[in-house]
Amino acid sequence: MDPKLYERYSRQILFAEIGEAGQQRLLESSAVLVGCGALGTALANLLVRAGVGRLRIVDRDFVEPSNLQRQTLFEESDAQEALPKAVAAERRLRAINSGVVVEGLVADLGPKNAEELLRGFPLILDGTDNFETRFLLNDAAIHLNVPWIYAAVVASYGVTLTVRPGQTACLACALESGAPSGNDDGPSAAGAPAGAEDTCDTVGVLGAAAGVIASIEAAEAIKLLLSKTDSAGGRLVSFDVWSGRFQSVRVARNPDCRACVHRDFRYLEGDAQPRLTMCGRDSVQIHERRRQLDLAALGRRLTPTVAEVRENGFLLRFRVPPYEMTVFADGRAIIKGTRDTSVARSLYARYIGT
Ligand SMILES: [Zn+2]
Repeated sequence: MDPKLYERYSRQILFAEIGEAGQQRLLESSAVLVGCGALGTALANLLVRAGVGRLRIVDRDFVEPSNLQRQTLFEESDAQEALPKAVAAERRLRAINSGVVVEGLVADLGPKNAEELLRGFPLILDGTDNFETRFLLNDAAIHLNVPWIYAAVVASYGVTLTVRPGQTACLACALESGAPSGNDDGPSAAGAPAGAEDTCDTVGVLGAAAGVIASIEAAEAIKLLLSKTDSAGGRLVSFDVWSGRFQSVRVARNPDCRACVHRDFRYLEGDAQPRLTMCGRDSVQIHERRRQLDLAALGRRLTPTVAEVRENGFLLRFRVPPYEMTVFADGRAIIKGTRDTSVARSLYARYIGT
């Protein structure tokens, strides 16, 4: 290995399970991360510093001031400029390690584009914040026969599970067939009941909790990239940084699993219709994929009729009091100020078109 590279990664090379050959292998490896919030930023930071040779980051959102408390790659200026997280993360990570390839993609991963965005990578990483996308990742990973790592965090608590298709339990084995055994103590190790009700927008989240779970996920990722699979996967690991409670529960494969046994990929086959989802406390997101918008032209057209038009090359934002609309080049929009999907749909139709 090149002496400068050896020096850079020397403390990791000294670790017996990695060594010089393992480091070389990491530098030649790659992974795709979906979601770049609290978990995703902490995870990407660790993996890029560790020398994972190529990291693709897919994220649909932009940086806001409320992200800065825990999303460790972002700075105040990113929030002021409302930069897409994928763009801000790519910039920061390139400055951290110019010797690896970081590719930030501003995209909303859904059934139609999931395999296109994930294909070609030997590892898929979960930095998302919702179960719909996680079950989609699970379906896609099994269909592509690629390992993936589930992770979730809320309040002071988080969980992670490494899935090796056909070898270990998948997310559907763990969550769709009831709670895993040996876990009637505290919150569900799977996070399903809690995850279904509590979100970071309702009960908050500690950066410390995200940091712990992202660290476990990063270690699992490095093991998988080095094919050290004897100790990877099959255990649902949870950690509560407030109570100090730690659990590591073996999850058995479900012999009747919808996804990894019967290969029913219902999330991947998904709907073809534009979808609406709630995001945050008072926002609706309209998913309108594959509809390229000329944001600058749209901004000029809207300027006479709406307030505070801002456009930064990645997104267009304007106000229609009491609402605020943020529109992306792929046709997506986030309408802030309502939880009513019909209001959101109507505003979209009025200002962006149908
Ligand atoms: Zn399964």
